[in-house]
Amino acid sequence: MTSQIDRMGNTPSADQIRRAPKVLLHDHLDGGLRPGTVVDLARETVPHGHGGAGGAPAVQLPETDPDKLGVWFREAADSGSLERYLETFSHTVGVMQTRDALVRVAAECAEDLAADGVVYAEVRYAPEQHLNGGLSLEEVVEAVNEGFREGERLARANGRRIRVGALLTAMRHAARSLEIAELANRYRDLGVVGFDIAGAEAGYPPTRHLDAFEYLKRENNHFTIHAGEAFGLPSIWQALQWCGADRLGHGVRIIDDIQVHEDGTVKLGRLASYVRDKRIPLELCPSSNLQTGAAASYAEHPIGLLRRLHFRATVNTDNRLMSGTSMSREFEHLVEAFGYTLDDMQWFSVNAMKSAFIPFDERLAMINDVIKPGYAELKSEWLFQQTASTSGSTPEEG
Ligand SMILES: [Zn+2]
Repeated sequence: MTSQIDRMGNTPSADQIRRAPKVLLHDHLDGGLRPGTVVDLARETVPHGHGGAGGAPAVQLPETDPDKLGVWFREAADSGSLERYLETFSHTVGVMQTRDALVRVAAECAEDLAADGVVYAEVRYAPEQHLNGGLSLEEVVEAVNEGFREGERLARANGRRIRVGALLTAMRHAARSLEIAELANRYRDLGVVGFDIAGAEAGYPPTRHLDAFEYLKRENNHFTIHAGEAFGLPSIWQALQWCGADRLGHGVRIIDDIQVHEDGTVKLGRLASYVRDKRIPLELCPSSNLQTGAAASYAEHPIGLLRRLHFRATVNTDNRLMSGTSMSREFEHLVEAFGYTLDDMQWFSVNAMKSAFIPFDERLAMINDVIKPGYAELKSEWLFQQTASTSGSTPEEG
């Protein structure tokens, strides 16, 4: 019996993956809408009769059937065309221009994550992209916060538990990063837990936004930077050594500084060593990387090597709608590609919780009161099933 358990490892089923407590650090609010909600909200932006309906410009969708629209989002993101990829966000951002729309999208985000077994999430968005309907930056932040609180309440009413913190993103091609950093600081005890910078890496190095990062450091605040997704080591080096990022958004190209020799030995360059030694969290997003071509398949994704080398690796969704994914689905792919067990899932989840931007005591409480007991329960359930099936008292499930 023992040998069978050892051989099989505690490989989780799809149902156990969903029920396992998961922690998400890299998820875009405008990349995770329900297709049906995009359709509903787009309808509201189309002017009725004369005069039109409220501030935001009308959004014309390529499909109005929610299922077809969901497929359209995935295909456009898969197409390899940057134009089509960016078009997907013009539709989601386009319908997120009123207070009611932002509250709804944020509430549904929290609900969907909770239903997927996520117990803690940091969800990011760029307030400057939600001003076309006449909202101020503060009104955008307050609407999203209200939505997250509502989603947390609805999840609790359904017997689930989730906590969601917001990260405010500044766009790297724009010039509002200091203003957004100040906004993040103003709302730091009111639902915003940190700051991020996103957008095309090429041509827009993070050092353009040094004033924002220096401001946040002087305020003892936290930030992550999208770096090392497509652009490689210089981008990671700048994010860490010039800007002082606490975490790396993606950071997957750190693999370029790691040599794997034929005999299996591994040599880390200075930057990769620094990232591992300093326990810099990597917000890895496997499915998103496959779509942008940063990795060829799940099995070849650098997360396998980075986990083996004990980098502070975490698993994330990036854009759930565009990638047709969820935290559970990301783990399903990784379990299949690398044979990960419940122990591996726990390792990733504890890693992510340690790397969250909320205070240390609250992170520790999440790890000890929610994550570890959750996995302990799943593991004992797994062991019970194995024991029962080997002693023949219950039918094999295969
Ligand atoms: Zn991202």
